[in-house]
Amino acid sequence: MQEAQLEQIKVRLEEMQAEILGESEETVHGMQEESTLYPDPNDRASLETEHINNLRIRDRERKLLGKVEEALERVENKTFGYCEECGNEIGKERLLIRPVTTFCVACKESQEAVEDNKWCWKKLLFSILLK
Ligand SMILES: [Zn+2]
Repeated sequence: MQEAQLEQIKVRLEEMQAEILGESEETVHGMQEESTLYPDPNDRASLETEHINNLRIRDRERKLLGKVEEALERVENKTFGYCEECGNEIGKERLLIRPVTTFCVACKESQEAVEDNKWCWKKLLFSILLK
């Protein structure tokens, strides 16, 4: 991958990193404020649900953040842009859309096909067992 493209992706990754970090700070802050604002137990219950959802989102964000940081490391040590599975270049279009990806389109698709197949077999097995 060319230096200029790599730089473009690095900027994108840093933006993602800043976005995620900014959002998770907001969530923590929001939680503390809300619990003192609603003394009613019913309001608190719905807030609990909201908090659980917030925590789920934060969990996903934390995972994504990990991936973003790994991608930035790969940019630093010049191993960025190669498929984990086959070692080929992932392709800049795909990387610009999903800079955290570690698989090329072909490998990703065959992985998904395997997943789909597993799912089909399970479905078939259940349909036989449940007859
Ligand atoms: Zn591949």
